Amino acid sequence: MYFRPKLLTLLLALFALQPVFSQSVRDKNLLSHLEYLSSDELRGRKTGTPESEVARNYIVEQFKNSKLNTQYPDFIQEFRFQSRREGKTLEGKNVLGFVPGTDSKKVIVITAHYDHVGVGRPNAEGDSIYNGTDDNASGTAALIEFAEYFSKNPPKHSILFAALDGEEMGLQGAKALVADFPFELDMIAININMDMISRNENGEIYASGTHHHPQLKQILEAAAVGKSPQLKFGHDLPGTGSDDWTKSSDHGAFYDKGITHVYFGVEDHPDYHQPSDEFQQVEPGFFIDAANLILACVIQLDEALLKE
Ligand SMILES: [Zn+2]
Repeated sequence: MYFRPKLLTLLLALFALQPVFSQSVRDKNLLSHLEYLSSDELRGRKTGTPESEVARNYIVEQFKNSKLNTQYPDFIQEFRFQSRREGKTLEGKNVLGFVPGTDSKKVIVITAHYDHVGVGRPNAEGDSIYNGTDDNASGTAALIEFAEYFSKNPPKHSILFAALDGEEMGLQGAKALVADFPFELDMIAININMDMISRNENGEIYASGTHHHPQLKQILEAAAVGKSPQLKFGHDLPGTGSDDWTKSSDHGAFYDKGITHVYFGVEDHPDYHQPSDEFQQVEPGFFIDAANLILACVIQLDEALLKE
């Protein structure tokens, strides 16, 4: 007589903790954002170019469709920075959308840079457009779909969705965001960064940063149970040179401010920073699964970090 209600309670508690299967992004939209943002028409989305603005307008449009809030005029944070390579001051623009949380005043900041390196030296095939499909139209496409998801399924923490500019010029958009954040920096529960998440021939993706923040590992492992691609940890050991990704993308600017972070990304492939980083090279199944895996991690972190 007694074990039944107890078992039922246990099952209900488990269901409350575990993500259900419907927690996923819209596959077709995810792929169409990726294809459009990395099309030749957008010419590699280099910071300051007209095509960068086209990409930005597209992201703003998506945030508006998802009915996101924002602390910024028309979702845009403008910033200036000194470009050493070009020897002048450049202007960058981040796109920032916001979904208020139901249970916490703290903020999860999800970042993905939408800029890439533009048009450059042609490869052997004469292609000079560096499309930056994996780097990082992929993270941007996932960011757009996560914004849509959490707009429909309100998170416990507030979430700031940040499509960042100027990453390829030295994490400039991320530096500008932490330098002029809409709340106190200690209101940030975590920065979750995505950069290069659409392909890996071994079916692996990394969650990097748990060396610095070991409390995250168990949470992420729980979210990844039974899912593909395989979630691996590492690339975050100090003193390992370029094998240490702690400052390799926008999460580095958060790390420098003492903010907890986790970075999702794949290991480099031969098309990294080449004109051949194109939509045709992407394995759609991998990308959709990776986006859903990261979404599951975000949902799990949103739940687990409440207890901190
Ligand atoms: Zn890059």
